[in-house]
Parts: sequence; C-alpha cells; structure tokens
Amino acid sequence: MAKKIKDSSASTPAVAASRRRVGKGAVTASVPRTPERLEEVAQVVVANGDDAVPDAPRRRRRAVANAAAAAVGARFRRWTKAEVVEAFSRFEAADPEPRGELDHSDPFTLLVAVVLSAQATDAGVNKATRGLFAAAPTPAAMVALGEEGVARHIRTLGLYRGKAKNVVELSRLLIAEHGGQVPRDREALEALPGVGRKTANVVLNIAFGEPTIAVDTHLFRVANRTGLAPGTTPLAVELGLEKAIPDRFKLHAHHWLILHGRYVCKARLPECPRCLIADLCRWPEKTPAPA
Ligand code: SF4
Repeated sequence: MAKKIKDSSASTPAVAASRRRVGKGAVTASVPRTPERLEEVAQVVVANGDDAVPDAPRRRRRAVANAAAAAVGARFRRWTKAEVVEAFSRFEAADPEPRGELDHSDPFTLLVAVVLSAQATDAGVNKATRGLFAAAPTPAAMVALGEEGVARHIRTLGLYRGKAKNVVELSRLLIAEHGGQVPRDREALEALPGVGRKTANVVLNIAFGEPTIAVDTHLFRVANRTGLAPGTTPLAVELGLEKAIPDRFKLHAHHWLILHGRYVCKARLPECPRCLIADLCRWPEKTPAPA
C-alpha cells in the first residue's frame, strides 16, 4: 500500500518555538492535512524557501519542503522526452557509475543496512554496521547474536530495538524459507519484517541489477520540485519516474536522483547555481547565485 508523507504532530521545543513564531512568510512545522492548507503552505515555501519553517527540526523542515514540492509539482509543464534524455545524459556524464553510500559486502549485509537506514543517515548506519557485520556477517551468525547482541551494536540508531528485532527475525526467515539467501523477488522481500517497497527496490537495484527506482525523501522532493514526476505519494512518484525515464537510464536513475537531492537539491536551500539541470528544472523560485 502506498505510504503517505508522514504527518506527525509531535511537539518538541523546537516545533513549539516555530509555532509561536509563525507570522507572515512562515508556516507551522506540521505537514498540512488538507489540499487547501497544502496549497497555502506551498505558496509560502516557494516564496520564502529556507525561512518558511523557522527553527523546526531538520526532518520536519524537509517534510514540509517535500509536501510543498508535491503540491506545486503537479502544475508544472510536463517534461518532453528530449528534456528527460538531456537531464539523464548530464547525470551520466558527470557520474557514469553512481554508487549508494551504505557499506555492505553482499546482498545480506545490504538488506540489513537498508533496514537499519530508516530514519537514520547512511553515515550513522555505516558506523553501526562496522561492528555488527564483523560480529555477524551471515543470517546464521545474526540469529546466533540475537536481539540483545544486535541492539548493542546499533543503539546509536533511532528505533534500534525494533530494528534489532526485525534484523534477527528476517535472518531467521532467510534461513527457514530461502536457504540463507536474499531472494531476488519483490514479494518475498516485502514479506520480511522491516522490509517495505522502498527497501525491496534498493536491494533489487543494487544487489541484483534490476532497474527499480526506490523513492526516498530526497528522490520524492527532486521528482516534484523539478516537475519530472510529480506525485503526492512515494508510489505515485515511483510509477511516474518509471514512465518518464527511458530504459537505458533506469538502472542508475535511483542513485543519480537520490544523490542529487542529498547534495544539490537540498530540502532547506537547493543549490541551484551549481545544479546540472537548472535550465530544465521547473521549480519557480531557484536559489540565486551569490552576488
Ligand atoms: S534548479 Fe534548484 S530546485 Fe531545480 S533541481 Fe536544481 S537544485 Fe533543485
């Protein structure tokens, strides 16, 4: 089932502060619930960019930026096929063999790393998995290490107790149902605990060379901001990208777009002056070059 953009109303001191300071040119840090409110927020974010959600935590600012991009992305002029080819030709020329940033040595360690990466940075996951994979590089070793043992290695990550439970259980299922191997099959992957469509897409793409496109927060924003494949859910964006991107670019499209979102088209302040596809992108308020 398609996952909607998260709408949490958790009230941290930073969020509360941002709510108190809301005024002209600023919006609350909560993701808007109605189309009307989404539209309102989108206008403020487009006009004010980084200052639209003052003092909110990074994840919340990113969620609002993404929601705003989704609201306005659908209105942009469609990309022509020639424009899409041009954009991906530029990504290809700049980075012919893009790589993900999660450390792994085989499909199993990749699967575990991706499961651990929910609501965590790749750098944070790599730090945690260094010791974890040294202690348990196989499903059998992971089961033997047990939940408490896994938790000890990954306690710097958010939701580590639930993640430890999932990692041990998925390892047990790999042994029981797949001969200790990671299956090259979406349905079988998604049946494992902690594995959703995005994780399955990452594993199919990186471990097995399938032309899947995993939509994470960065890719969601880039697809909407640029107008390349607007959509209000990750699944809508994924299907839009699959339709828009020519087959010859599909294997690496996932990495090009994620890396572009992570390092250039950032949520808070996109670095438009150094963007490879600025002339093709439909985002109306591009960040100006420094004077
Ligand atoms: S021009 Fe700016 S908004 Fe558009 S893709 Fe590039 S960095 Fe993002």
